[in-house]
Amino acid sequence: MVTVESPARLLIGGEWRSGQEEKTFDIVEPATSEVMARAAVASPTDVDRAVKAAREAFEGGAWSDAPASARAKVLYKIAELIRADVDRLATLEARNAGKPIRDARDEVLGAAQCFEYYAGAATRIFGETIPVTAPGLDFTLREPVGVVALIVPWNFPLTIASWKVAPALAAGNAAILKPASYTPLTALELGRIALEAGLPEGVLNVITGPGATTGNALAGHPGVDKIAFTGETLTGVSILQQAAPNITRVSLELGGKSPNIIFQDADLEKAVPAAVNSVFGNAGQDCCARSRAFVHRSIAEEFDQRVAAGSRQLTLGDPLDPATEIGPLISMKQRERVQAYVEVGQREGARMLSGGSAPGGALARGSYLEPTVFDRADNRMRIAQEEIFGPVLTIIPFDDEDEVLRLVNDTPYGLSGSIWTRDIGRALRVARGVKTGVLSINSSRSVHQEAPFGGYKRSGIGRELGMHALQLYTEVKNVFVSLE
Ligand code: NDP
Repeated sequence: MVTVESPARLLIGGEWRSGQEEKTFDIVEPATSEVMARAAVASPTDVDRAVKAAREAFEGGAWSDAPASARAKVLYKIAELIRADVDRLATLEARNAGKPIRDARDEVLGAAQCFEYYAGAATRIFGETIPVTAPGLDFTLREPVGVVALIVPWNFPLTIASWKVAPALAAGNAAILKPASYTPLTALELGRIALEAGLPEGVLNVITGPGATTGNALAGHPGVDKIAFTGETLTGVSILQQAAPNITRVSLELGGKSPNIIFQDADLEKAVPAAVNSVFGNAGQDCCARSRAFVHRSIAEEFDQRVAAGSRQLTLGDPLDPATEIGPLISMKQRERVQAYVEVGQREGARMLSGGSAPGGALARGSYLEPTVFDRADNRMRIAQEEIFGPVLTIIPFDDEDEVLRLVNDTPYGLSGSIWTRDIGRALRVARGVKTGVLSINSSRSVHQEAPFGGYKRSGIGRELGMHALQLYTEVKNVFVSLE
């Protein structure tokens, strides 16, 4: 058994403690299916302790009342410590999440950048002055919400944890971070780094354990003022239900079935590799994956064949090998789920152009799956409607702009998407018609540290990143001063 140094501890109130019930669970390395570490199970009592520790830290004021510039210094220090440890953190993330080391390295550096951004933003959280009718001065204050629960998934573990922890702390909140059970290791590292950077004890607590018990106890805890969640849409529904009795504020980043729209005048030299990378990156386990490609019928056969050829050229391999482009899926269970969709696609009558199988040889012990391309699909098929969260692309032909807009929006999701055309008028018309929170034109980029990110419809509530994220972590207080 390969092991990494693992504390199997919870970070509560600045101390590393075993869970109250002393239970642990295995962390499996997806590339080898071997146990690489163990993590502690936080019981409802541990969750309660974490919430109380966060409340105490928040009310104590060492962080929430500190000058914003002092908070900024600590956030900068966290970024510096992440950067200094990039190789170790990237290796840990690559092994734990099965992602190629070069992607893991970019993600760790992205996490550092996120803390730098919110270090700068901390001193830019302003209120407004409002010209009211009554004789007096009216102004607003932006105050921290209080104790925030941050529940994150396994596909981009440190990235998504940072998207929540950094703005929450910048605004002066105290936080409890609950990583996904598949991938808790870098979240625990983030807790360690935050303490080392001088964050007061109890301001960031990290608890591990199953969503059904630990996550559930956290989301339903009356001492939590706000929940920020990223994960599956159905889990988002459950979070809303748990939050309702306490009127806990909730923001949700959920699933997607993002469209990639390729018009007949698109630059295929760019659109083809982008179509391949934007669905097969992170082995397709990406909420923004362009998993539905809509291609104009006049170029469909050429586009489909080129995309299938591109997908066959991707290098599957050991996540720690710098040449690897696609790692394993997060687990054997996830691979089975995706393979079931491959069978569904075949039964539904789409044409499978490439992939579909689990590779053998040295990769057989990991949860790998070949990038799979279906074309000649119909938007009503399950492979076009349901989030597969794996390396499966569904290509659907279209004839005109009106038709493609109707098809693109015919989904319960609304997270991201791309439009490829050289006609600027068409690009802007279609961009206005697509019901998603994030769009790119002649690009497949969805995420910018400085710009809002989030979904329409069943893809979520609220916007993360940029200055928009600070709205999630602050309350607005209106103050009127009589001048009579
Ligand atoms: P899940 O919803 O299963 O889990 C997400 C987190 O919630 C995990 O920490 C999980 O814990 C926890 N959790 C599970 N059940 C509960 C519960 N009842 N109460 C409280 N917490 C709970 O999602 P996945 O981890 O499977 O992540 C994949 C999903 O995330 C995909 O659907 C994807 O589209 C979405 N996603 C969305 C993004 C966006 O920004 N819109 C970005 C990235 C992913 P545990 O791991 O222990 O089960």
